Amino acid sequence: MTSILDLLRPEIRQLRPYKAADYVGGFIRLNANENPWRPPGDETRDGLNRYPEPRPAELTERLTAFYGLRPGQLLVTRGSSEAIDVLIRAFCRAGQDNIVICPPTFGMYEVYAQIQGAGVQQVPLDRSANYSLPVETILREWLPATKLVFVCSPNNPTGNSVPDAAVHRLCAALAGRGLVVLDAAYQEFAGADPLQELLSRHDNLVVLRTLSKGLGLAGVRCGVLIGKSDLIELLGRVLPPYCFPTTSQEAVLRSLTPTASQELADRRGRILAERQRLMTALPSVPGILLVWPSTANFILVESRDAPALVAKARAAGILLRDFSWDPLLPGCVRITVGSPDENDKLLKALRT
Ligand code: PMP
Repeated sequence: MTSILDLLRPEIRQLRPYKAADYVGGFIRLNANENPWRPPGDETRDGLNRYPEPRPAELTERLTAFYGLRPGQLLVTRGSSEAIDVLIRAFCRAGQDNIVICPPTFGMYEVYAQIQGAGVQQVPLDRSANYSLPVETILREWLPATKLVFVCSPNNPTGNSVPDAAVHRLCAALAGRGLVVLDAAYQEFAGADPLQELLSRHDNLVVLRTLSKGLGLAGVRCGVLIGKSDLIELLGRVLPPYCFPTTSQEAVLRSLTPTASQELADRRGRILAERQRLMTALPSVPGILLVWPSTANFILVESRDAPALVAKARAAGILLRDFSWDPLLPGCVRITVGSPDENDKLLKALRT
C-alpha cells in the first residue's frame, strides 16, 4: 500500500537538510559568527546574541510530553499558521496538485494554497445540518491530484466540532490517497480530546494545535504539527534552522510549569462559563436572529443587519468580526468570548 510519504513532493523526499553550526552546551562558540556580548537589557537565559538551537530540543520535548505524545511525533512551528504553510508546500506541486477546504472555514488554508500555486477545491459545510462536514461529498470529489483535506474542528468561524466518527471515516477512506489535516486550534474549549485515539488508528492524519488560544500565548507564535514520526522528520527539513526565537522558547517553557498550567486551566474554565453566559444572553439582543452552538472561544450569531450590529459595538469601543460578506454566512458576526467585564460591556452596548 502507498505510504503517506509517497504523496510528498519528490523534491521534499530527497531534500538534504541544511547543516547548521554545531550546538554544544557549555562550549565556547566560535562557529556561528555570533557576537560575544549580550545586548543591553537582555534577561534571557541563553542570551539574545546567540542563535537559538537549530531545532528547539527542550521545547519539543516538553510539548511532546504536554500533548502526551511519543518522541518524534511533534514539530514546533511559528504558530499553527506556519504548519499549514509547511504542509501545503511539502505536498503540493505548483500548478498540479490540489487541496480540499470546507468553507466557511479558516481563510489561511486558501491563501497558503494560492501562494504555493496549489489548486483549491471547495466542498462547503452543510449549513442545513449545523455546518456539518460533508464527508461523502469530499470523497466523491477527490481527484488523483488532490493531496490534502483541511478539517477544522472546532471550526472557525462556525464554532462547531466535527464528530470523531467523521474524521475516522475520512481517514480510513483516504488511506494511501490523501492526508487529512485536522486543525484543532480551539480543542481546549471543546472537551474530550480525540488526539491519541485518532493518531493510533490512522497513518494519513496530522493534527495541528496552537498555543495561541487555549494557552493564551498568541504573541509568542507557537504551534505544533503532530503526526507519524517519519513524516514529521521530513516536514521539519522544510523549516529554516534557528527559526524559533529564544524569547518565544523561554515564554512557552514558563507557561508549561505546573503552576502556570493550573492558572491557564482556571482561565479556560472562566472562558467556558462566559461562553455559556453569552449564549444565554445573546438571543434576546435586539437584531440577533440566531446564536449558533459553540465548542470554541467564540460565538457565531446571525443578525438582521450585521454591519449595524458591528457598528453598535464599535461605537462602544468593541471590535467584532463581520462575516456577512460571505454568501455562506448570511448576516453572520463572530464574537470572541472576552473577560467578564468585556462581555458585560458588549451586552450593554448591543442592548442600547
Ligand atoms: N487555525 C485556525 C482554525 C485558526 O482560527 C487560527 C488563528 N485564528 C490558526 C489556525 C492560526 O493560529 P496561530 O498561527 O496563531 O497558531
